[in-house]
Amino acid sequence: MKILTSFLLLSANLLFAQTPKSYYLTTDRIFDGEVMHTGWAVVVEADKIISIGPKEKIKEPVGSIKINYPNSTLLPGLIEGHSHLLLYPYNITDWDTQVLKETDAYRTARATVHAKNTLMAGFTTARDLGTEGAGYSDVALKRAINEGIIPGPRLMVAGRAIVSTGSYGPKGYDHDQEIMLGAEAADGNDLVRVVRDQIGKGADFIKIYADYRWGLNGEDQPSFTLEELKLINEVTRSSGRVMVCHAKSKEAIRRAVMAGAETIEHGDFIDVETGKLMKEHNVTFIPTLAAVDMITQYRGWKKGVSPDPANVVNKKKSFKAAMESGVAIGMGGDVGVFPHGENALEMELMVEYGMKPMEVLKAATTINAKAFHLDQQVGAIKEGLKADLLIVSGDPSNVISDLRKVKWVMKDGVVVRNEK
Ligand SMILES: [Zn+2]
Repeated sequence: MKILTSFLLLSANLLFAQTPKSYYLTTDRIFDGEVMHTGWAVVVEADKIISIGPKEKIKEPVGSIKINYPNSTLLPGLIEGHSHLLLYPYNITDWDTQVLKETDAYRTARATVHAKNTLMAGFTTARDLGTEGAGYSDVALKRAINEGIIPGPRLMVAGRAIVSTGSYGPKGYDHDQEIMLGAEAADGNDLVRVVRDQIGKGADFIKIYADYRWGLNGEDQPSFTLEELKLINEVTRSSGRVMVCHAKSKEAIRRAVMAGAETIEHGDFIDVETGKLMKEHNVTFIPTLAAVDMITQYRGWKKGVSPDPANVVNKKKSFKAAMESGVAIGMGGDVGVFPHGENALEMELMVEYGMKPMEVLKAATTINAKAFHLDQQVGAIKEGLKADLLIVSGDPSNVISDLRKVKWVMKDGVVVRNEK
């Protein structure tokens, strides 16, 4: 035992004496978050990117680990803009059942696997938009990842999220029963207490459902008044956090923007005018194309065989309008509706709906990083930023699906995936 102890001490000392690990990366292509370069190199030391530039200018550090794959592309670790790590695909278990019948402990156990799959797919950061009935399990998940207990992306979490009374689900149950909702209901001045309570329990930002399908005919209608949204925003801002809004209808988007929301989630009915209003107020649009696509398929749509149903036609139209308006478009797929680890699906759909692959790559890196105030840390390959990196086979700026050919992933300077 004594021998073992001194051996451990010795190894610990050796570990401290070592110079930090360095990596010299020379893939065929390097996407720095803005531009695709060829013939470039990147140096990583400890948890930081030390240098990037043309190979002839970037010296290989002595003793560094060389990383190269044939016909490959190096990118900044991708940023998932809209995940629900506490949910899994509705075609396996419907949303009501996940929210009402599954315990937080069970859902968190699943979430640890979801977090790992996300990271292994090259998404080294994720913004999680609410636990949908699993309390603050996302805050605990984030802690376990940060402490190195489980693998996962660096997380920004919403906690429970806020809905107006009467608007949100699960719905359709006997009113004699108290049904737990997928988010926390609050209205009027009580919003002040609820926002502060969510912040106190670990929310990194406040997520609001600015509308929901509770119109007379089940259409999306605003849930909060402009005054309520302004109140939420004021209380949130004074804590140094931001408000982000689920909003599909034009009126809810308008109110959310006027109240100070920083991102609009879904935006199914965005038109050019609404997009321009968002742009004027520096709001970023997170389209969640994959959620609509997959839910429609779960309901029986045979994609590619049957014609596009009305909601898909509408989603394509609004995405085009958003592009035309010039609003900043980030990347977030509402992953959880579809399997964690298949986050690239949203990016494939962005291309399918008319965006150039290079723009899609920017959306999932520099644009998301800026929208979430992370651009001083991640989202680009730039001197001084965290070493969150991804290598894929092929060239995703040409064929976006090459993002699925993950070869190598680094988070915070640690290699977490290393394929042959
Ligand atoms: Zn969502």
